[in-house]
Formats: sequence, C-alpha cells, structure tokens
Amino acid sequence: MTDLQIRLFAFDWLKSQIEIHGDVLTRRLLQDGFNLSGEKYGLVGPQGIWKPKAMKLPISITSIVDGPYPDSIDEESGILNYRYRGTNPNHPDNLGLRELMKQKIPLIYFHNIVENKYVPMWPVYIVGDNPLDLSFSVMADDIAYLKPLELSGQAAESLTSYARRAYITVTSLRRVHQRGFREIVLKAYRNQCALCQLRHTGLLDAAHIIGDLEDNGEPIIQNGLSLCKIHHSAFDQYIIGISPDFKVKVRKDILEEIDGPMLKYGLQSLDNGNLILPGNLKDYPDRERLDFRYNQFLKAG
Ligand SMILES: [Zn+2]
Repeated sequence: MTDLQIRLFAFDWLKSQIEIHGDVLTRRLLQDGFNLSGEKYGLVGPQGIWKPKAMKLPISITSIVDGPYPDSIDEESGILNYRYRGTNPNHPDNLGLRELMKQKIPLIYFHNIVENKYVPMWPVYIVGDNPLDLSFSVMADDIAYLKPLELSGQAAESLTSYARRAYITVTSLRRVHQRGFREIVLKAYRNQCALCQLRHTGLLDAAHIIGDLEDNGEPIIQNGLSLCKIHHSAFDQYIIGISPDFKVKVRKDILEEIDGPMLKYGLQSLDNGNLILPGNLKDYPDRERLDFRYNQFLKAG
C-alpha cells in the first residue's frame, strides 16, 4: 500500500464520516480513525502536525483553538499561513511538511472550532516555506483535480491552478469559519434563542450583529446572537431591534398590527423584554456593534 493510496483512503473515509455526522467532527472520531490492512490510522495527534506511525510523512495539520499563533489567511493571495512546530525549522514535523511540499503530496487541514470539534479541509498542499516567520504557506484544492494529476505523477503548476487554489482556499476557509461561528455562538447561549428561549438546535441560527460582508462583521461570539429562524429573520429585517443595553424592541408598525397568535406571542410580546445573555461575560454581544445595528433599526422604523 503506497503512501498516496493511504492518503486517498483517508480522504474517502473523511467524506463518508461527513455524510454520517455532518461537517463538524469530534476529536475522538478523528483520533480513532480507520483500519487499513491491519494498521490503524488516526488522523489527529497531540501536536498540530500529525503523522501516523505507519506513514512516512504527515497526514494532517490542525489549527489550535486560542493558540498563541492563530493560523491566518491572506485573502488577497489566498494563502493560509501555518506555523512551524516550535522554532527549530529542522524539527522532524517541520521536515515532514517540507518533504510534502517538495513532492507535492496532499494532506488534510483540520480547523479546530471549539474544544474537541473540527471541520476538515482537503486536499491541501504545502506550497511555500517561510523560515523568517517560521511558517509554511498552505493552499487548498478541489479533490476533482487531485486523483488524475497525482496518480499520473504530474501535478500541474500552472497559473490557472494557482488561481483556482487561491479561490478554493479563501472560499473553503470562509465556510469553515462560518461553520465554526454557529458552533461557538450556540454554545455560548446554551443552545437557546436569545429572544424566546427556544431550545431546538435544528431551529437555531447564529445571527450576525454586523453582517459578515461589512466592516467589523467578523465571525466571533461577540458579533453573534443565537436566534431561532423566525427571530433571526425578524432581526435581519429590522422588525426587532436590540439596544446596546440589551433591551429588545419591536418596530412600532408591527406593535400596532392585529393578527393571530404568532404575531402576538412570537413578536409583539417581546417588546421591552431583556435579551437572554451568554453565561460568560466575555461572550456578551459587543455594545458598540449593537449600537451601530440599533441605529439602523431606529432608522428603519
Ligand atoms: Zn426565538
């Protein structure tokens, strides 16, 4: 069994796990991994760079939640910077990644969204080595380009493949961050709607206070609210506003309307109530962002 065959098996295995569990996978599942020809292959290890015993080169790299050096993406170049292990460029883990770069061999990137939960991206490639800032440059690609190219032994390095990889890296990382956003926000609000306390996670969203395409619209807890679908839409459409002192306001024309119980209990009854806040003070919604958004709500009324 060649190294590349094991990698392709790992990619297929990940795909099947996502079909079963969704795209957020637990550490336990990834640590246990799979068995192939009598060997066990876990896909994550105690350090960020991971090589199963039966393989010669690393199979995955993992971002570290709240780590000292968060992995950063340069949106313009479409390159993800991944820190070396430690400061010695010749640590075996760093050597392993350098070898993957030389041989143009793909691996898996696990984005750690909350403790013990990961969203995978694959295939990714080590495309550059930056000894000055102790990091590697990483780019993602589309799996469709992998099999024919790698198996025929000629990974094409053309301008189009660079542009494609840049695009795929940026869009997949955005998706991964949005996925992480939902997890961290719902967890902060103990899986309930911050307006009506509904606890069905399937009906809950992580709403942005400031939209993700605007300035300050980052996918962080302090820019998020855990809201049920109806209250998320009502918040987005300025039917409901939340003041910087966490009071809930319903737009005047909606308060004057007369209709059935959904309007009465679902919307009107929320007016002047208190926002349900996260358990931790550090997770509270950012007052400046709320203020900015509340002013838009007041203008809409
Ligand atoms: Zn709700």
